Amino acid sequence: MYRCNKCRTHGIIENDRVMVPCIGCAAKTDWTWNGQTYYGSHDRHELDGGDYVWHMYNYFNHILGKDTILNVLPQELQSDYIVLAEFNNFRNRPESDYSSSSPP
Ligand SMILES: [Zn+2]
Repeated sequence: MYRCNKCRTHGIIENDRVMVPCIGCAAKTDWTWNGQTYYGSHDRHELDGGDYVWHMYNYFNHILGKDTILNVLPQELQSDYIVLAEFNNFRNRPESDYSSSSPP
């Protein structure tokens, strides 16, 4: 049986067992599934830590905001998220800001 509909759509399933859960179920089980660390799967592809940070930033940052996402992310990925968010804040500044400041 499937744990949830998102696992059925996004998870990696073998012989009717969820081998890698959806992102939501990975979060709910504190990133551990069958004794291993997983950050979930999307479109049936397992996400590693970098993929998961990228996914959260690109799909949810504009909806949830940085503070909420930092509460969701496992501790070991929080600094990667901050680096990505700050890099994109810098990159998205108006052109005129580039000449007068250096990258973070
Ligand atoms: Zn699920």
